[in-house]
Amino acid sequence: MKSEHPQYPHLFSPLAVAHLTLPNRVIMGSMHIGLEENRDGMKALSEFYKERAQGGAGLIVTGGVSPNRRGALGPGGARMANSRHARAHEVITDAVHLAGGRICLQLLHGGRYSYHPFNVAPSAIQAPINRFKPSALSSRGIRSTIRDYIRSAKLAQKAGYDGLEIMGSEGYLINQFLVRRTNQRSDEWGGTLENRMRFPLEIVQGIRAACGPDFVIMYRLSMLDLVEEGGSWSEVVTLACNIEAAGANIINTGIGWHEARIPTIATLVPRGGFSFVTAKLKGEVSIPLVTTNRFNMPDACEAALAAGHADMVSMARPFLADPDIIRKSEANQAHRINTCIGCNQACLDHIFQRKTASCLVNPRAGNELSMPVLPPQVVSAKRVAVIGGGPAGMSCALEAARAGHLVTVYEAAEQLGGQFNLARRIPGKSEFAETIRYFENMLEEAGATVHLGVRADAALLSQTGFDEVVVATGVQPRPFRLPGSERQEVVNYIDVLTGKVQVGNRVAIVGAGGIGFDTADFLSHDRDEELGFYASWGIDKELETIGGLKPPGNRKTKREIHMFQRSEKKMGGGLGKTTGWIHRQTLKQRGVKFHTGVRYEMIGDEGLVYLDAKGVRQCFNCDHVVICAGQLPNNALVATLQLAGDWHVHSIGGAQSAQKLDAERAIIEGTQLGRSL
Ligand code: NAP
Ligand code: SF4
Repeated sequence: MKSEHPQYPHLFSPLAVAHLTLPNRVIMGSMHIGLEENRDGMKALSEFYKERAQGGAGLIVTGGVSPNRRGALGPGGARMANSRHARAHEVITDAVHLAGGRICLQLLHGGRYSYHPFNVAPSAIQAPINRFKPSALSSRGIRSTIRDYIRSAKLAQKAGYDGLEIMGSEGYLINQFLVRRTNQRSDEWGGTLENRMRFPLEIVQGIRAACGPDFVIMYRLSMLDLVEEGGSWSEVVTLACNIEAAGANIINTGIGWHEARIPTIATLVPRGGFSFVTAKLKGEVSIPLVTTNRFNMPDACEAALAAGHADMVSMARPFLADPDIIRKSEANQAHRINTCIGCNQACLDHIFQRKTASCLVNPRAGNELSMPVLPPQVVSAKRVAVIGGGPAGMSCALEAARAGHLVTVYEAAEQLGGQFNLARRIPGKSEFAETIRYFENMLEEAGATVHLGVRADAALLSQTGFDEVVVATGVQPRPFRLPGSERQEVVNYIDVLTGKVQVGNRVAIVGAGGIGFDTADFLSHDRDEELGFYASWGIDKELETIGGLKPPGNRKTKREIHMFQRSEKKMGGGLGKTTGWIHRQTLKQRGVKFHTGVRYEMIGDEGLVYLDAKGVRQCFNCDHVVICAGQLPNNALVATLQLAGDWHVHSIGGAQSAQKLDAERAIIEGTQLGRSL
C-alpha cells in the first residue's frame, strides 16, 4: 500500500538522498550515554557529540529522552518537559552546529520498560524484563501523554534541535500500543489496527502541526518485533504508510523488542544482517528508509545501499568506537577505523549497571572532557619498551607513540593481539580481528617499532637502553592439580582453541567463566554452522509469521559436552549483562550440560570423577577434560627488570593482576599508562 498524498512537504526524498555520498547517507543512531542524568553531564555530552560531528557525522540522534516523568527509563531519567530542560540542551545543539553537524533529539517513553514503580502502559501487563508492573493508562492519561510528546518536541525545537526521532520500536511505549501482546484495551486505543495505531499517529500529526514543516521527524518503526503476539508484516506496511501521511520525513528501522530472546545487535549477528527487513518496505512509502543493526564498517553500509535495501544507514556504537569513522570512510581509509566489535561490554553493559557508557576499544568515548587529545611531547620524548603485544600492550604503545615517545614493542608470538587472537577464533567473534588490524596499522602510523617473535628480557632491553619499560605480558592458565591431571587427555583451552589438540566427542570442561563458555561454544557450533544465524535463532526471513518468529532449528551438537564449576551460583552469571543470556541459551539449545556446586576428585581411565551438588560421587566418562580454570598473572619479568636497569618498570593488564581481568580493563590500563608516561 502506498500513500499517495503525503500531507506535509518532505525535507528528504529517496531520490535526493540517493545522490548523496556515503557519509551523508549515514546517520549516527541513538545511544544513551548515561551522561544525560549526570550533574554537569551536558558539557561532557556536548563534547562527545562535537567530536562525532567534527568526525563527519552528518545527522546525529541523541540518546532517548522522555516526554514526561513516568516515561523516564529510571528514577531521575532524562526528560524534556520544561524550559529548564530545553536550556540545558542548548550546549549540545550549539556544539554540534558549530562543528557543522545536525542533530535530532530522540523522544523515548519507556512505557512498561521504565524501571520504576510509576510506569504506565496501554494495559497493566508486566514486562518479563522489569520487576515493576505498569498501571494501565486511562483515556485522559493517553491524551495527556500525547500532549507531553508535543510539548517536548516544541521544547526540543526551542533548544536548537533540527528535529526528532520518535522511538516507536524496541518494545517501548509506542510499540506497546501497536500489538495485542501489550495492548488489550477495548476502547478507541485498542482492538483494531486503526485503534492501536492511533497513539503514534496522533503524536506525529501533533508534532508536525506544532513544529512546522522544516522540523525533521524521523520515526523509528518496529519492522520485526521478534516476540510472540507481535506485529504482522501487513501491519508494518500499513503503519509506515500512515506515519508518512501523518508528517514524518524519514522512517528508521527497529528490530526486536528488548525482551526478545533473539540477538539483534550482538557480535554474532551478521554485519547488516537485518537490512533485508528494511528492503521489504522499500517502495511502500515515498520517504527515505533507514536501515540499521550491526553495521560497523563502510563496506557493509555501501553493500546495503548498493543493493537498494535502504536509502540511509544508521550506526550507533561504531561512533563510540571511532568518532572519525565517517571522515576515514570518506578518505577511503577503512584500515584506520577503530571498528566496533559488537561486544556491548563497555557501552550497553555499563548502562545496565547505571554507569556511563564508553567503549571497550576506545576508552575516550564518553570521557572526551577528562581524556582530551594530547599534543605530542616531542621535547621530552622518552624511550619506551612495551613487552607484550596484547590489548594492554598495544593500547599503551599506541598512546605513548602518539604522545611522541620512541616506542618499541616486543611480542613473543609471531603476531600482535594476545588473547584477542584466541577470542577471534570463537564462532561469532571474528570481529576481534578488526581490533588487532587497527592497532597494527595505528602503531605503524604512530612510528612505533614492533618486534614479533621476540621474547624480551633484561639483557635484550639493556642493549638498547630504555627510560620506561612496560610489562604487558598478560596471563597464563591457572594450573589444575588433581590426581590424574597429568594425563594426556587433560588439555588446556589454548591448545584446543588454537587447534593444537583435536578433542573427541565426549568433553568435560572444568571452569565456566568467559573462557569456559567460549570453549564450549567453539566445540559445539557444528549444527549452528549448518543452519546459519536465522534458522538457528528462529527468525522468519520471509516475514510471513507474526512477530517474524518461527521455531528455531535443531541446534543440538553431535558432541556430548559437560561444563563444571564448584560454585553453586548460576552458570555464566558473570558474563556480560546484555550478552550473557545469548551464551547460556546457545549452549542449552545445543544440549551442553551444566553442573554447578561440584567437587573434583580425580581423572582416571573412567573419566572425570566428582561429587555432585548433593555430594553424590559421579563419573563422566569422557575423551578429554579441557581446563578453563581461570588465569594467573604472567609477571615473572617484573622483578628481574626492576633490578636490572636504570629504568622505570610498569605492569598493566593481566601481568598486573589477573583478578577481574577482561579486555576492557586491559585497554583502559594500557591507554592510561601510555598517556601518562
Ligand atoms: P573466570 O571468569 O575467572 O572463570 C574461571 C573459572 O574457573 C570459574 O568458572 C571458576 O569456577 C573456575 N575455577 C577457578 N579456580 C579453579 C580451580 N582452582 N580449579 C577448578 N576450577 C577453578 O576466568 P576466565 O574464564 O579465564 O576468563 C578470564 C576473563 O576473561 C574474565 O574476566 C572473563 O570475564 C573474560 N572473558 C569474558 C568472556 C565473555 O564475556 N564472553 C569471554 C572470554 C573471556 P569455580 O571456582 O566455581 O570452580
Ligand atoms: Fe562496540 Fe564493544 Fe565499543 Fe560497545 S563497547 S561500542 S559494542 S566495541
